[in-house]
Parts: sequence; C-alpha cells; structure tokens
Amino acid sequence: MTTQLVGDRQLQIEEILGAFNLTVGGTFSGVAHGGTFIPGGTGATIETRDPSTGAVLAHVRTASEADCSSAIAAALEAFKSWRSVPAPKRGEVVRKLGEAFRRRKDEVVGIISAFNFPVAVPGWGWAIALVCGDTIVWKPSSLTPLISIAAQQIFHEVTAGTEAEGVFSLVIGRGGTVGEALLSDDRVPLIQATGSCAVGERVATAVGKRSGRAILELGGNNAVIVLDDADLRLALRAIVFGSVGTAGQRCTSTRRLILQRGIATGFLEQLVAAYRTVRIGDPLEEKTLMGPLVSSEAVDEYRAGLVEIQRQGGKLLYGGRVLEDRAGYFVEPAIVRSRADMPICREEIFAPILHVFEVDSLDEAIAVNNAVPQGLSSGLFTTNLKAAERWLSAAGSDCGIANVNVGTSGAEIGGAFGGEKATGGGRQAGSDAWKGYMRRQTCTINYGDDLPLAQGVAFPID
Ligand code: NAD
Repeated sequence: MTTQLVGDRQLQIEEILGAFNLTVGGTFSGVAHGGTFIPGGTGATIETRDPSTGAVLAHVRTASEADCSSAIAAALEAFKSWRSVPAPKRGEVVRKLGEAFRRRKDEVVGIISAFNFPVAVPGWGWAIALVCGDTIVWKPSSLTPLISIAAQQIFHEVTAGTEAEGVFSLVIGRGGTVGEALLSDDRVPLIQATGSCAVGERVATAVGKRSGRAILELGGNNAVIVLDDADLRLALRAIVFGSVGTAGQRCTSTRRLILQRGIATGFLEQLVAAYRTVRIGDPLEEKTLMGPLVSSEAVDEYRAGLVEIQRQGGKLLYGGRVLEDRAGYFVEPAIVRSRADMPICREEIFAPILHVFEVDSLDEAIAVNNAVPQGLSSGLFTTNLKAAERWLSAAGSDCGIANVNVGTSGAEIGGAFGGEKATGGGRQAGSDAWKGYMRRQTCTINYGDDLPLAQGVAFPID
C-alpha cells in the first residue's frame, strides 16, 4: 500500500495546498480566534491523509478544551461590537465572503472532493448567523482539517482590519473533547450541529441539559420510489447520481430504491448496466465519476455493512468489493436486493450501498419510505398527477424534502433544507431559517399612568 504521494499527484496536491500556504508534510495550527491563527494548539497533533492514496498530507495541531474556552471568550468579545453593526453591513461581509470562496472554489474542492460537505453545509449556517449578528466558533470534522484551515484563511483575508475581524473562530479537535466542551459551555447559546443521528442525540441531550438551543442537521436514509408509469430515463439518471455520486457519502445519498413490480426487473437490469459504466478513481481526474471513501474506517464500515446485509437475508446484485489492489480507500458501489423489514435497512451506512425493494402499490411504497427512523430526503418518479399529489399530502412522504421526478441528492438552494424524525428537525436556508439564529424577545411598553393587574387582582398597597 502506497503511503507517499508520487509524481503528478504530488505536484497537484502541492499546488492545491500551496494556494493556502500549506505544504505537504507540514504541521499547521487548527486553532484560530481573534482574527488570527494561534500557533500552538495545545491538543493532540493529528495526521490527515489523501483518501485517493492513503498518503499522509500534513499534520494539524488540534485544540484542547482550554483552546476551545479561549475561542469562546474571543467570540463573546467580538460579539459585543458585531451585534451592533447594521445588518446590511453584516450582509456585505457575507457577500464578500461568498465572492472569496467562489474565487478559490477549484482549489478548495480539490482537497476534499471525496468527502461530505466541509464548507458548503456549515456555510449555510455561517452566512445566516453572521447576518443575524452572531459570532461563530466552528468545530469541523477532524477528517477534513486542511479545508477548514483554508476556509479560515479566507475568513481572515476578507475580514482583516474590518468590523468583522474576529467574528469567526476555528477549533479543530476531537468530538469527545472539543465538541463536548462546546456542548457543555453555557456561554454558547446556540449549537448548530451537522453529523450522524448518534452524535445529534448526544448534542440534543447535552445542550438540552443546560437549556441551550440546538439546530440539528443529521443523517438520512433516503429512498426513491419508481412507479410503473414513471419516465424511467429520468429515474435512472437521478438514482445513479444519488447512490454513486460522492461515493454515497452525502446526507442525501439515495440508499433505498423502491420499485413497483411491473417495471422492477427491467429497471434493475438498466441500473446494473449503468453502474458498470461508473469510472472509479482519483477525483482530480476529469473522467472519474466516483472517488474514494474518506478513510480506512469508512471502508471497514462499508465491508461490515455488506456482511451484515447478507447475514440478514439481503442478496448482492452488483459490486461489493473493496479495491484492495490499489492504494487509497476505494470500493465498488453495491446494489443489494433487501427486505424492508431487515433491521439494517433502518440504518444509514455512509457508503455507496443501495437497497432495492419491490412493492405492489404507491401506498405500500410510501409505507416503506416512511418505515425508517430518519426523515431527510425522498423522491417519487411518476407521470400520474394523483400519485404525485398523494406523495406530497399528509398521507405521503414524512421527510423534510419530498421531490417528484427529482432524486434525493442535492437540494433546491432557496428551499428550506433539513429533515424530520431522527434527522433532527433543523432547517438551513429557506425563508425563515434566520429565526433559529436569533434571540426572540417580546417587549411591552406601558405608556399610561396605571398598571391594571390580570383577573382584577388588587393589593392593599393600591
Ligand atoms: P459524525 O457524526 O461522525 O461527526 C459530525 C461532527 O460531530 C464531527 O465534527 C465530530 O467530530 C463531531 N462529534 C463527534 N462526537 C461528538 C460529541 N460527543 N460532541 C460534539 N461533537 C461531536 O459525522 P461525519 O462522519 O462527520 O458526517 C457524516 C454524517 O453527517 C452522516 O450521518 C450524514 O448524513 C450527516 N450529514 C448531515 C447533513 C444534513 O444537513 N442533514 C449534512 C452533511 C452530513
């Protein structure tokens, strides 16, 4: 197994990192507050690897609980002035940040292309929070520390010397230490958490215990239903993109496919044929359609998931191999014929594994769609208006996102994004998301000379 970057790839990675003054093999601080990086993060030093080769890219000094506490104190200090900056001026900072991120998009994307959304999804939250006058302490995933450092650099570039300097702090570190420190610190009134349902449950418990507020954006177990009358060409495109894209590592990845019996056999044949054409490889290569998983632990989860699916009665129809003959964390996308009552179908396996079920009717399909703890995204393919309306009715999908002739992956950027049930109920974007980031206060002014009490109560002092 290769553990060093070689040849062209070495040059590409050097170029990408170099754009942010990062060097291959270097050690960098994962802590920033008050508008600057703090050289000595006092937590453990972690290594970050290239998922395409397994090679170590760099080392990052993480935050300790004490660093996290200092970042919170700095954020509170910055809040004193930031909250009084007029909202249009705060919006202007967000606009400039958007432009700066767009200018650096190619470099950024290059570093993390295989993994989840280390900038875009938290970015929805930052943008609103900043306009609302909040200051932010960001604890990103330890799996993507370099892109987080790069993002923090962009923040510094845009805000240096302005009223926004210091409004954004970074604390890279383990969930069990830095994450917990944020959850339990009652100086932090709002925690916005994106992650698995298990972590969300921990966030809700810990933040609830101190009567704080949490916005939770958690795991999905998303299904696409294809009815007999569907436009199968559209359905095929959406399902392949949703299940294979980003190697199944999106919260909105398609994990369950519910086929009406009339089209099931023929559609599955087309799906398997489409899977065969998916080119797996280095995400920096243009022709690659599916990159690696994020880590060796993710590969283990994929492997163990497939073993368990088959133990519970699932049948492997396509794929399922770990590509051990090459370096990095590459696997084949897998299709499995499963039964909806298999307990493992209720779990989100964060890898490209697609369960297929057959059903007789729309109502049975809706029941299967809704029979999991998560409720993020869902899609129905049909040309029947009544079926589409039923799907979107109170008797239809119970997910936060319900689409018609559109798959589960991705989201309409102007719409509210988030899910119900174990997905946490949080919403980002959409017209009312900002309310979650603000304190709510009801104010009553007495302009009279009297103070009538409720129920006509009178005290002897009257
Ligand atoms: P994860 O749950 O393993 O980690 C998420 C974050 O929580 C990380 O920063 C981690 O360090 C932190 N964390 C872990 N333990 C913690 C603790 N005790 N206290 C505080 N923080 C803690 O998830 P992941 O593997 O990074 O991401 C994949 C998961 O995120 C999937 O379940 C995916 O569906 C979900 N996700 C959801 C959305 C959404 O908008 N609904 C978007 C992206 C990803």
